[in-house]
Amino acid sequence: MKDTYNRRINYMRISITDLCNLRCLYCMPEDGISKKNHDDMMSLEEIAEVTKVAAKLGINKVRITGGEPLVKKGIVDFIAAISGNEGIKDIAITTNGLLLKDYAKDLKKAGLKRVNISIDSLKPHRYKEITRGGDVYKVLDGIQEALKLGIKPIKLNVVVIGGYNEDEIEEFVYLTKNDEIDVRFIELMPLGQAANWAKEKFISNETIMKRMGNLIPEQHQTSSPAKHFKLPGAKGRVGFINPISSHFCGECNRIRLTSDGKLKPCLHSNKEIDILNVVRHMPKELENVLINAIQTKPEKHYLDTDDYELVTRNMAEIGG
Ligand code: SAM
Ligand code: SF4
Repeated sequence: MKDTYNRRINYMRISITDLCNLRCLYCMPEDGISKKNHDDMMSLEEIAEVTKVAAKLGINKVRITGGEPLVKKGIVDFIAAISGNEGIKDIAITTNGLLLKDYAKDLKKAGLKRVNISIDSLKPHRYKEITRGGDVYKVLDGIQEALKLGIKPIKLNVVVIGGYNEDEIEEFVYLTKNDEIDVRFIELMPLGQAANWAKEKFISNETIMKRMGNLIPEQHQTSSPAKHFKLPGAKGRVGFINPISSHFCGECNRIRLTSDGKLKPCLHSNKEIDILNVVRHMPKELENVLINAIQTKPEKHYLDTDDYELVTRNMAEIGG
C-alpha cells in the first residue's frame, strides 16, 4: 500500500525482544534495560498475527531484529510461521551473530533468506570493549557457518565510531574481496544511548569513501538505503548507509514494530501507534489501525533541524 507521499510501504522491521546478550556502548546501558512486565510485551504469536494482516496490506518483506533476536525462545518456529504467509517473500534477520553458529541451519530450514550480522571491530579486545563483553571469534564462526550453508548475501553492519574503530575501515572493506560478503558502514545515529554523544563520535560515510579511493560505484537500487561500491574484482560489495549525512526518506518503504507492540512510522520520531492492545482486545480493527498508521508516516525526518526532538527509546526496543 502507498502512504500519503506516494511511497510504497512493503517492508516491516520487527523487534521481537528488547533483551540482548551484549551491551553495545551506543545501544544499551551498561546494566542492560530493566526487564518489562511480560504482559506489556508482544508475544511471538501476536507478532505473527500482525504480520499476517500486514502481509494482506502489501508488506512482503520482513526483518526480524531486537535486542538480540536469537536469544528469544521460539525464534525458529516463529520464522517458520511467518514464512508460511503467502504474501511474505523475504525474511531476513539482524543479529549480533554470537549464537548464529548454533541456529543457522534451523533458521534456514524455517525459511530465513538472509542475515545481517553486526560487527564493529575485528579485534578481539576492541570488540569486547564496544560490546561490553562479546567474543568476536564466536561471531566469526557464525559468519563462516552462514557462508557454508549458502545463506546469501551475508551483510556485515559496521557502525563507525570516532576514536574506536575508524582505523579498521580498510580491513573491513577487504573482507568483501574473496567471499560473497557485503560490508555496510552505518553512520552513528543520535538515538537512545547514543543520543548525546553521537555528534562528537560521528564519522560521515563521505570521510570513509574518501579514504577508500579505489571503490567502483554500483547501480543504486531504490529499495535499499545503502549506496553500493565494489573493490576491483571483489565478490562482495561495500555499502554506505547515511541516515544522517544524506537521508533516504524519499525512498523509505518501511515501518517498524517495537518489542512492546508499538508501530513506528519513522525511526527518528517519537510518534508511535499502539498495536498491542488492538491485537489483544480489538483484533477486527487491526487492519484499519495499520492502514491509518501508515498514513501518518512523515515525509522526512527532522534530524538536521532545530525542531528535532531526540528519540528517547533505545535502539534495542526499536530494532534499528
Ligand atoms: N542485536 C542485533 C544486532 O546488533 O545486530 C539486532 C538489533 S541492533 C539494535 C540493530 C542494528 O542497530 C545493529 O547493527 C546496531 O549496530 C545498530 N545500532 C544500534 N544503535 C545504533 C545507533 N545509535 N546508530 C547506528 N546504528 C545503531
Ligand atoms: Fe545488543 Fe544489537 Fe544493541 Fe549491541 S546493537 S546491544 S547486540 S541489540
